Amino acid sequence: MAFLDLARLYTLLEKLKVTSRAHVLLGSGGLAAFVLVLRYLFAKDTKYISNLAKVGRLTPPAGSPDPEKYDVIIVGGGTSGCVLAARLSEDPNIRVLLLEAGQSGTALTFSRTPSLFARLFPTKHVLQLRSEPQAAAKGRTQFWPRAKMLGGCSAINAQMAHYGSPEDFDEWAVFMGDDSWTWKNFGRYFTKFENYQPHPDYPLVDASARGADGPIKIGYFNTVTNTSKAFIKACVNVGIPFTPDFNVSTGTLGVSRIMTYIDEKRQRVSSESAYLTKDVLARKNLTVAINAQATRVLFEDINGEKRAVGVEFAHSSNGPQYSALSRKEVIICAGAVQSPHILMLSGVGPAAHLKEHGIPVVHSLPDVGKHLVDHPVVDLYFKDKHDSSSKYFQPNSVSDVYKLLRAFVQYFVLNTGGPLATNFGESAAFIRSDDPALFPKSEYPETLPDSTSGPGSPDLELFTTPLAYKEHGKVFFDVHTYALHVYLTRPRSTGEVLLRSSSPWDIPSVNPNYLKEPEDAAKLLRGVRLLLKIAQTEPLTEYLDQEFKRGDLDHQSHLKSDEELLEMIRERVETLYHPASTCRMAPADKEGVVDSQLRVYGIKNLRVCDASIFPWIVSGHTAGACFAIAEKLSDDVKASFHTL
Ligand SMILES: Cc1cc2nc3c(=O)[nH]c(=O)nc-3n(C[C@H](O)[C@H](O)[C@H](O)COP(=O)(O)OP(=O)(O)OC[C@H]3O[C@@H](n4cnc5c(N)ncnc54)[C@H](O)[C@@H]3O)c2cc1C
Repeated sequence: MAFLDLARLYTLLEKLKVTSRAHVLLGSGGLAAFVLVLRYLFAKDTKYISNLAKVGRLTPPAGSPDPEKYDVIIVGGGTSGCVLAARLSEDPNIRVLLLEAGQSGTALTFSRTPSLFARLFPTKHVLQLRSEPQAAAKGRTQFWPRAKMLGGCSAINAQMAHYGSPEDFDEWAVFMGDDSWTWKNFGRYFTKFENYQPHPDYPLVDASARGADGPIKIGYFNTVTNTSKAFIKACVNVGIPFTPDFNVSTGTLGVSRIMTYIDEKRQRVSSESAYLTKDVLARKNLTVAINAQATRVLFEDINGEKRAVGVEFAHSSNGPQYSALSRKEVIICAGAVQSPHILMLSGVGPAAHLKEHGIPVVHSLPDVGKHLVDHPVVDLYFKDKHDSSSKYFQPNSVSDVYKLLRAFVQYFVLNTGGPLATNFGESAAFIRSDDPALFPKSEYPETLPDSTSGPGSPDLELFTTPLAYKEHGKVFFDVHTYALHVYLTRPRSTGEVLLRSSSPWDIPSVNPNYLKEPEDAAKLLRGVRLLLKIAQTEPLTEYLDQEFKRGDLDHQSHLKSDEELLEMIRERVETLYHPASTCRMAPADKEGVVDSQLRVYGIKNLRVCDASIFPWIVSGHTAGACFAIAEKLSDDVKASFHTL
């Protein structure tokens, strides 16, 4: 089951054996930790069905589809799909089949442990996707990890519980002419999924504004460094107001420690762990199939009216192909890359592009795969003055080995958290690039176009990590580091997802066109300048070694010209892992793919529900909106069934 996971752990333990002394250190505590991890790794996982013959019928000519076995088939058991599966199956009259291409995420130690998610990036549990070369980012192709497991990206993300700005959703509502999307109305779906765990150190958080009964635990159970606490004070000192809670109706601007999707056991909360509980999985009307990759949606055309009637799926490209029929709905929740991919493979998308790949056109929908948007991030690196970082996560000495083992014991044996309980994104600030208090006209005379969703919304987020890294956590520096990051919450540059072939097993082409619009780079430049100033502001200066002048770190970067910093931005810009908007909710005459009930235009009984439906990307982290959208759609679908 967790073969690769175990293999990586083994590599890690191999690394630990740097000297014979290290062997000694693998003594009682380390061994106990190792045994515990093994126990986690080999935990039996019998709740899910991996024999696909039990879920569907062999596709003709070998067999005929199972007639009307399910009411709803959900494609993709990710962040949104698990929510829908659990909520829809609350009604015993709705028979639900959830098809997930990967396996269980909660069964993977590297998913459950808050700090270890990047270890999953090179494994079979993550789609090995790379972007097209980015013309405005030095022609680099970029690694774009997308989870392939139950829980989806909520099982590999940085667990930062931030939902965007209330004005984002008001903007959606106006665009769609549908009040159900206003923050006033839609906002309740955020509190519906939340189970806020108050913390004595954060008495200013208004617990009554947070949900208390939902399945997703949020709070402050992650470990946070003193440096990230100092960052908050430094931000206040440069003029960013403190806010106790980013997810409130009054708006998200300000600086704070970020809440996380981590529970009291200091384990990740994913949509699988929260929604596919033992009780939910015991429901007779819910079937969850794993290792089941949907290859095509099946349609029926009666007198010109097209409707979705089922899904084809398989375990592998050369294995048997199965199909299952849905009496009422097919809901695609495969994420912003794979949802448009599945639609196109099924014949729904830009007609000329489908024909180019020999796919018969079921329904021409030009905007499937278009409007791809992602948050571009730039990292700044600093030397940690106190040499206290968790650089030993990649051990290079006996002392590193000792520290790593101590961290393992702290987390796995003593259950006291420690360094392994960091989610990396510890503190954050949401700001506007036109805020005169931060960017005075005298220094920043240019007026940049406003891309925010409203005057109370940000276009930049600054955040901290307790360690600097490159290549998505693969490469650490040889000295102790700390990192500051800035990303554009509302980029204007957009791109597209395209087919590479008609085979469902070929990963599609993705091109986010980072920094294509010059204003995006100009706003990031403001963010970088501000971060460099914050790095030199008390009390952060007590933690960052200002004397350290090495060129690969950023202590001297404030001396660079705008042109040099723009060059650096183009060299460093990377994905913040938030692709969205490729099956955009928009009016049909405004480049829409789905309507405000997330129904695909032109096809009955087919919906999409995940980050791909965002009309515009939210001004912040994207998982929260995915949970909330799925909560909302569950109510909408249940209501529609009752009125049938
Ligand atoms: C490394 C990383 C860090 C992030 N950090 C944060 C953060 O800190 N906070 C935050 O809010 N957001 C974060 N995000 C973003 C957030 O997690 C995603 O935007 C969100 O989870 C996407 O949810 P989704 O439902 O759209 O898709 P996903 O969660 O990606 O779900 C798609 C699911 O569909 C399955 N699937 C795909 N194709 C098929 C098929 N053909 N058949 C069957 N199943 C299929 C996949 O295996 C997957 O389970 C991060 C993302 C990543 C990758």
